[in-house]
Amino acid sequence: MSAKATVTQRGAVLLGDSVACDAFDETRPLRVVTHAHADHLVGLRRSLRSCEKVLMTAATRDLVEVINGSVALTDGSVEVLDYGETIKYGDERITLVKADHILGAAQVLVEDACGNRVAYTGDFKLDGTPVLDCDVLVLEATYGSPSFRRSFELDIEELLVSMVEKRLRDGPVYVFGYHGKLQEVMQILHSADVSVPFVMPERVFRVSKVCERHGMRLGCLTPSTGKEGKELLDGNLPCVAFYHMNSRQSVGLNGSRICVSGWEFQSPCRQIGDKEHLVALSDHSDFSGLLEYVRLSKPKRVVTDNYRVSHGVTLAREISRRLGIPAVAMPRKRGA
Ligand SMILES: [Zn+2]
Repeated sequence: MSAKATVTQRGAVLLGDSVACDAFDETRPLRVVTHAHADHLVGLRRSLRSCEKVLMTAATRDLVEVINGSVALTDGSVEVLDYGETIKYGDERITLVKADHILGAAQVLVEDACGNRVAYTGDFKLDGTPVLDCDVLVLEATYGSPSFRRSFELDIEELLVSMVEKRLRDGPVYVFGYHGKLQEVMQILHSADVSVPFVMPERVFRVSKVCERHGMRLGCLTPSTGKEGKELLDGNLPCVAFYHMNSRQSVGLNGSRICVSGWEFQSPCRQIGDKEHLVALSDHSDFSGLLEYVRLSKPKRVVTDNYRVSHGVTLAREISRRLGIPAVAMPRKRGA
């Protein structure tokens, strides 16, 4: 039997015979949630109703409950796995392996009775992600085009710390980013001894508390809706205010502003407004990192995830051309 892997029109990454990752699929008894970002929670409610088991790490379970809000994961079908822990289902063995992305993120390895190994990276940044040896690899394709390469060598974390420190002299610094990334920035600032209060709205606060429960050290967290948070922001006092990217148009319009995003390839830091800068802090591998993962993983075949981004086709073509490994993008047509 040859190792099986595909990505369906609805975004389910099917591995072997029993597993569907990151979207619901009616043919699979097991659902894996690789991490808490919304594009990996497709059809979660249906999976909770229909699947025998819904597998994820404990950190992912806790983050999904806070970020998603509307699904309760206390349901009996949810089974929490640690990194490196394996469960058996029929002839298959399923293991979650750490992925360096948002807290709790996992890669998925499925091994069948014949020893075939099928792996799915989920979203990842190569630095802290162990590369899985496998026969068939399903690869994320966020930065799957050769133009998405970050060639700058400057230390982004140092740059971020010095930017924040400098701007704090004039009052609050607003940081905008996505869940997970915001907490990464808090951790960077905290470990660099930036000791002003970190102010944030309720949901960011709750996500941060989950991160602390799972071992991240984030500093002095202060809700923006409380008395202290209000006084800091209204009084223009030195603090760092963390808001989701969606609030960018409505919050801190007159303050110093920093957006953290991976969608920047020209320079590590770029001015995008009067008092606003974009800092290129990414939690995904760039194009070179994606190719490097494939090179180290040595699969016989690669499937690129063409559901979540539009660069799956380009990435598959470049893997075939540059590494000589057969690669296809799936689903072939997006959103059909
Ligand atoms: Zn993600």
